[in-house]
Amino acid sequence: MSREQLAVQRARKSFQTGNTKPLEYRIHQLNSLLRFITERRRDIADAVKRDLGKSEHGTELFETLGLEGEIKLAIEKLAEWAAPRPVEKNLLTISDEVYVQPEPLGVVLIIGAWNYPWAVTLQPLVGAIAAGNAAVIKPSEVSSHSAKAMEDLLPQYLDKDLYPVVTGGVAETQELLKQRFDHIFYTGSSTVGKLVMEAAARHLTPVTLELGGKSPCYIDKNCDITVACRRVTWGKFVNCGQTCIAPDYVLCEPSIQSRVVEEIKKNIKEFYTDNPKTFEDYGRIVNQRHFKRVMSLMEGSTVAVGGDSDESQCYIAPTVLKDVTGESKVMKEEIFGPLLPIITVSGVDEAIQFINEREKPLVIYVFSHNKKLIKRVIAETSSGALLANDCLVHFTVSALPFGGVGNSGMGCYHGRHSFDQLSHLRSCLIKQLKMEGVNSMRYPPHTAKKLGWARFLLLKQVNVCRLRRMALLAMLAGLAAFVVQRFLR
Ligand code: NAD
Repeated sequence: MSREQLAVQRARKSFQTGNTKPLEYRIHQLNSLLRFITERRRDIADAVKRDLGKSEHGTELFETLGLEGEIKLAIEKLAEWAAPRPVEKNLLTISDEVYVQPEPLGVVLIIGAWNYPWAVTLQPLVGAIAAGNAAVIKPSEVSSHSAKAMEDLLPQYLDKDLYPVVTGGVAETQELLKQRFDHIFYTGSSTVGKLVMEAAARHLTPVTLELGGKSPCYIDKNCDITVACRRVTWGKFVNCGQTCIAPDYVLCEPSIQSRVVEEIKKNIKEFYTDNPKTFEDYGRIVNQRHFKRVMSLMEGSTVAVGGDSDESQCYIAPTVLKDVTGESKVMKEEIFGPLLPIITVSGVDEAIQFINEREKPLVIYVFSHNKKLIKRVIAETSSGALLANDCLVHFTVSALPFGGVGNSGMGCYHGRHSFDQLSHLRSCLIKQLKMEGVNSMRYPPHTAKKLGWARFLLLKQVNVCRLRRMALLAMLAGLAAFVVQRFLR
């Protein structure tokens, strides 16, 4: 039996003991996960430094802080999320108990990506634990130091059988994907997402696919371009552009292109100094394969800012490309690196058309003072999310479902959405074996009148609340008539 098979088998056996059902157990595991992050902060930061050249401060801000918030929220809200959820009834079920009961799915496979190796791997785990599942955790082999630290350290805090960490590359992931799971939560590229979905289909396993793509950023010529460019510079170049929700390219009118270039240039200098290569918060491209891929995307485009690189260190400077067209090489795939192409359009109409001619993105960014323009972009496009006048921050709002649509993914998570995504929302209806007379209208009808009533009740979905309100109004009207008759005549 392979290592992967063994891990899944053990996780399933443990899940079947029912240990994860009591909420106290889940809260205990979530507290252990929180303790892991607090006590192992330094190990986590060291691993990320070695994988991506990120500073300790950067790791705290973009990996552990959000994770801690999600864990604390789950601990605080678990009883509420896991409680039965009463639903509106119809006339046939008016005296019954009708509710939705969230229940664990079973064994979840979590496949993480390398760009934020802790956040994108452990945030789904928070949802899996809260929902009462077992979870097999497969960190990305590309961020190998983080994967090793996760494999060595996490079992010291969490139940080893219920939440095993399985490391390895493509072969190991494929071996895992042959096993039967109750849900697969995948973060990574759309290409591999399709393979994951294909493997899941063999067992009819549901999937959440957190994918990427090219997220556009429209800058309206009448907005505060200085502030807009400051926020775009931050959102684009953090983690060297290796962020799934980074603005991939800018759309703006030709009249503001040079201003946008100048503002971004100024901000790069302010954020990363004159020499980003030696600045500790800038980081590196994850490996040589990705370095070569990103460098080749510049071919055929005009460099307006940056452009220098050092292959031996996987360093690429924050770079702005101007006069790019939809046909340029850099527009053929998600950049996932520190290149920001600017494409000129005649206005918001053309920007919307440009966006709609391409795959649905993970996020659309719009910078404008004009609320109507923002609402128009919302109404006339589709994407996982839309953020106006800032970058990335929608990720931090736990109440917003985080996920893609179409080519950028399916399913969502964060906060309660993670809990729901990894639960089965079971419909429960509890009747009593009484009042059979009322039910007789459901059975083969003896008269046309009965059939008419049954159809009315079953198909029209009578609004019970409205009926109650109408009955109350009728009673009040009757009472008023009685009072008038009895006392006022
Ligand atoms: P990656 O190379 O780390 O792959 C992700 C996982 O897939 C790894 O665990 C890897 O082992 C596995 N894998 C790779 N090839 C496989 C194959 N042929 N068969 C089975 N498993 C395989 O990550 P990546 O794909 O380079 O990640 C970058 C992409 O992820 C970008 O498109 C980015 O936008 C996206 N991303 C999305 C989110 C999100 O939340 N939506 C977050 C981070 C990254």
